[in-house]
Amino acid sequence: MKKPNLKGLTAAELSEFCVALGEKEYRGRQLFTWMYEKEAPSFDRMTTFSAKFREDLESRASIESLTLVEARRSAGDGTTKLLFELSDGKRIESVLIPPKTAFKGKDAGEEEEQKRLTLCVSTQVGCPLDCSFCATATMGLLRNLTPGEIVDQVIQARAYAGKPITNVVYMGMGEPFLNYENVMKSVEIITTGLKIAAKRITVSTAGWAPMIRQMADEGRKIKLAVSLHTLDDNARTELMPINARFPLEELLDAVEYYYRKTKERVTFEYILFDGWNDTDDDLRRIVKLSRSIPSKINIIPFHDIAFANPGVKRTSLKPASAERMEEFVRRLRDEHVTVFIRSSAGEDIDAACGQLAINVERKRTSAKKPTHTARR
Ligand code: SF4
Repeated sequence: MKKPNLKGLTAAELSEFCVALGEKEYRGRQLFTWMYEKEAPSFDRMTTFSAKFREDLESRASIESLTLVEARRSAGDGTTKLLFELSDGKRIESVLIPPKTAFKGKDAGEEEEQKRLTLCVSTQVGCPLDCSFCATATMGLLRNLTPGEIVDQVIQARAYAGKPITNVVYMGMGEPFLNYENVMKSVEIITTGLKIAAKRITVSTAGWAPMIRQMADEGRKIKLAVSLHTLDDNARTELMPINARFPLEELLDAVEYYYRKTKERVTFEYILFDGWNDTDDDLRRIVKLSRSIPSKINIIPFHDIAFANPGVKRTSLKPASAERMEEFVRRLRDEHVTVFIRSSAGEDIDAACGQLAINVERKRTSAKKPTHTARR
């Protein structure tokens, strides 16, 4: 029988595990410290434990780690995509975003912490939500990640970078609110074990309104981001089918509720598409929104994902030009909207969410296929 993997268990769960082994409860807290604060990759590194206890642990449990398959660093801005293999062979990606990369131009200088090193983590293998601009969506949903697999992205990225991760954003492959329990358990471990403050953790949703309310009710201190992209219901449903289930009115009600409960400003993510969501009407709607809900807007450049499904056009939308983007932002700022331009980080390293995992998987699959000559 497969030994249980302890990575992903909270301090309370590790204490329960130790008591079941006939050990004192405090052993669980020590195990927690060894696994997350000291990042011991195996039981034999836990040198404060007796040899007998280490042997017991070894025979009854395991500590599983993700395997780093590939790291691609952008020559331009240092953004690094990490491709990980899970224990069942599936692959996910995380993105290390250095300071001055998260935001562009004068926004970079204005960001308070230039020492930040942000990690964007995945929460699912694939995603069921089918947003038409997203590479991950082309995979469908393969499975949810476990708390351990989410936490280990941070542990492995820190080891790779050789310095602490200061901020974590749940904005990689998958919809975090469709894996809510595992995501929140990983947040608990990241804050208490890896010592990253809750206010430096952001969970980004495509708009699963009921879970926004639930997160507000639970009084969590982490931040919320919402992928908005347009304030026109029909257009949003076309871009993000989730909007048919939770239309803008319901979504924005939930966001307002979240603000009332937490007094935390929400971030709205807004990919700017040429001629589609960058009109005067769009601008007026954003201004109105930011006056009714204290929030900030992140304008994001669009990475074309035509590669993701060759022959099948998922969206005909085009990225807005840099000039258009600057102008849009200037006009929003003239209206006193808090707005940043997120840098088009790592265009040379398959920057769109899911793009590296899909491209590498495609190469792996085609390499495994017998060639035409071989079949004959
Ligand atoms: S954008 Fe996010 S929610 Fe939408 S399909 Fe991609 S991973 Fe899923």
